Amino acid sequence: MEALVKTDWVARSLASVWHPCTQMQHHENLPMVALSHGHGAWLMDYDGNRYIDAISSWWVNLFGHANPRINAALKAQLDQLPHAMLAGFTHEPVVSLSEKLSALTGGELGHCFYASDGASAVEIALKMSFHAWRNHDQPEKQEFIYLHGSYHGETIGALAVTDVPLFRQAYGSMLQHAHLVATPDARMALKDESASDVARRAAADVRRVLQRRSGHIAAIIVEPLVQCAAGMVMHDPVYLQLLRQLCDEFNVHLIADEIAVGCGRTGTFFACEQSGIWPDFLCLSKGISGGYLPLSLVMTREKIYQAFYHDDLARAFLHSHSYTGNPLACRAALATLAIFEEDDVLAKNRVLGDKLEALLKPVAEHAQVKNFRRRGMIFAFDVEPKIKEGFARRFFTEALAQKLLLRPIGNTVYLMPPYILKNDEVALLASGTLAALEQSC
Ligand SMILES: *Cc1c(COP(=O)(O)O)cnc(C)c1O
Repeated sequence: MEALVKTDWVARSLASVWHPCTQMQHHENLPMVALSHGHGAWLMDYDGNRYIDAISSWWVNLFGHANPRINAALKAQLDQLPHAMLAGFTHEPVVSLSEKLSALTGGELGHCFYASDGASAVEIALKMSFHAWRNHDQPEKQEFIYLHGSYHGETIGALAVTDVPLFRQAYGSMLQHAHLVATPDARMALKDESASDVARRAAADVRRVLQRRSGHIAAIIVEPLVQCAAGMVMHDPVYLQLLRQLCDEFNVHLIADEIAVGCGRTGTFFACEQSGIWPDFLCLSKGISGGYLPLSLVMTREKIYQAFYHDDLARAFLHSHSYTGNPLACRAALATLAIFEEDDVLAKNRVLGDKLEALLKPVAEHAQVKNFRRRGMIFAFDVEPKIKEGFARRFFTEALAQKLLLRPIGNTVYLMPPYILKNDEVALLASGTLAALEQSC
């Protein structure tokens, strides 16, 4: 009976649901898992199988599935105010969330603008930068700089500053031109070079573009510390300091896309904190609602806000989405921030991360593994499989057999677990990763 129900869901899904980031034909061989429920770090299917959600369901789930504290907060909000428009109206969850986030930047980024998904937050930051220059009587500053290997989302505007060829290639002629600069990828260190040397070389590339073109450049957009979608590409924090200096020198905005790296993922609440800088725009999404509801936002400075503050309607930032500032999503975010405070999550994660890293030593030392790396609660390594073709899908399938949800990016395997793993779950994650590696490479 149970199995029958499961078969039913998968078949019906394949017939009616067009799944994201998927060549649907691959599901002729690749398993699709029909989930019945989730609890803590675990996802359960209809056959009674369980999987540790070791990538936090695409990097969103920080405190487990069906977290009792977030559930309770949402149930209360549901009875009070599920949704209302945010133009002309306001409510406690959106005010409290804005104040709390602003306080986390020491008031530097004191204005929060809301949307629902990450790509929209990126587009808002791009539009705000562009429009702020226009309102500052520098309308010629219209262009953007982005990094090799960057990922900022897949809508047309966000894709224009995304450098993942597979996602871009079909849409090239739809995309606005932007300036591509070197990545500070620490793996590119030459002999006797450190990660900070690579960062300096990459910053010099930005300087070259700015020297030539800064009068036309509105902003540079960067994923602080880890370019996640490129395959957990990590760089030295000094890179962000150098970008901040360049942006100040050449009068260009700095957009920090912390959609994936924010919310404690890299070890500090915001990744930028590790460089001791603040951007002009900071995009948040993914983990901010604890992996519950679509929510994104852009935080910015007083100076940018003032560029729009005027009696002329056309100088205002008129961007909106139907669900802007959704109270349920804001409530989930407040419950998420409360857990950070009450449980001292950043300190606990240092211990948890060290434990996992120690247990992953046999993986790091495996003959087919290169560039084992970690930043906070992101772990990654590159695999040189004996059979090159189809490694990612093979590993995914073998990991499922080990009770793990792990979904490599090309030949890079990464772990981005929720912050609530128990000791036995950490052990299973490490041993299962090694087993899946041995079965698939
Ligand atoms: C996921 C992601 C986005 C896009 O967010 P969506 O909610 O998927 O639109 C943008 N930037 C970064 C760095 C991301 O990881």
